[in-house]
Amino acid sequence: MQYLEPAPIKDRENPLESMMSRFDEAVRILGLSDEMYHILKVPARQVIVGLPVTMDSGKVKVFEGYRVIHSTILGPGKGGVRFDPDVTLDEVNALAAWMTWKCAVVDIPFGGAKGGVACNPREMSAGEMERLIRAYTKGMQDIFGPDKDIPAPDMGTGPREMAWLMDEYSKAKGMTTHGVVTGKPLVLGGSKGRVEATGRGVMISTLVSMAKLGLHIEKAKIAVQGFGNVGSWAAKLLEEKGCNIVAISDISGAYYNDKGISIADAITYRDENGGTLENFKGAEKIDADSLLTLPVDVLIPAAKEDVITMHNADKIQAKLIVEGANGPTSAKADVILKDKGIIAVPDILANAGGVTVSYFEWVQNRMGYKWALDRINRRCERAITNAFNQVYDTSLKYDASLRTAAYIIAIDKVATTYKYRGGY
Ligand code: GLU
Repeated sequence: MQYLEPAPIKDRENPLESMMSRFDEAVRILGLSDEMYHILKVPARQVIVGLPVTMDSGKVKVFEGYRVIHSTILGPGKGGVRFDPDVTLDEVNALAAWMTWKCAVVDIPFGGAKGGVACNPREMSAGEMERLIRAYTKGMQDIFGPDKDIPAPDMGTGPREMAWLMDEYSKAKGMTTHGVVTGKPLVLGGSKGRVEATGRGVMISTLVSMAKLGLHIEKAKIAVQGFGNVGSWAAKLLEEKGCNIVAISDISGAYYNDKGISIADAITYRDENGGTLENFKGAEKIDADSLLTLPVDVLIPAAKEDVITMHNADKIQAKLIVEGANGPTSAKADVILKDKGIIAVPDILANAGGVTVSYFEWVQNRMGYKWALDRINRRCERAITNAFNQVYDTSLKYDASLRTAAYIIAIDKVATTYKYRGGY
């Protein structure tokens, strides 16, 4: 996984506030009652655990672990576990709510959840990571469960950590429980296609939205921010479709070549160079932030939240933004982008390929069966394309942005389901 430095504190807009302002707008358009507003707004559960972990130095460091289950109205909680220095309970709350809306938009029977630990995986050994994720799992053993709350990878975690999580949970329960977590390695009940699923969903969303805008697949210039799992897979799959990626970036900086960058070469370079693009020769190194404002047609922010803000939105030249990361555009930036006529395919649609294939993984685990890759890819493509078309039609119906339309669909679905289920 790659990391990008966060925006300076002074420029940051709180992701929870950004999420809430979109939520408020969609609720207003739908005309939901005050009661329903509060039912959907307040997280179902917020859990904080203290995690003492012996570091390689022999010293014990105490981490704080969070799990927020925002909603279980559509089904068990679902969402990744983030290991990142910037993790806060506020951020996890926003990310958990985003998962609720994301699962609803792509129509999978999960609620929304998210977990996180403030730590720096770049500075931790494999042993330290293992002890931390095991301690976290132990702390959450009564929260997680294949029918209760199903974690998955997010920033700073991947299949390796999911294997430890599954093992620790299985030990605690005294039985192998594949379905408690998704994003596992293949041999451990993981699904074919899960590793690249989020990037695949971004690729599909990019191609369908480019077609709607009349952008030429081969002539359009694309910039991708972030070269971790999401960004590098999205770039690679787009390249395979004939697209021209002119800029990429990671923690080491941004790389720009107006003629196009070979993504296959960049991935090989990264993998052979300790996981970073530092000194990559296929492009000119530029200032990391300037990637966002390059003269390109499509911009894919696939690093982290709050990178397109009121401070840089007016300088964006792309006609189309496809959000690979969760929450890369702040609510204040939305307004500026709208004025400039820039279309943004929202995160809860564009990056939903990951949780969609997580759902397929969970289904396979419950069946005790494995699907072939082409079945998974076909179903993922269908899920994202259908969701895109529905969001697009809704945006026309309400004369709203794609983002607001996606929230309208999601909130309406969760509210309707709640009415059927009922409360106390
Ligand atoms: N962390 C990913 C996301 O934000 C995947 C979640 C999942 O598969 O449950 O969508």
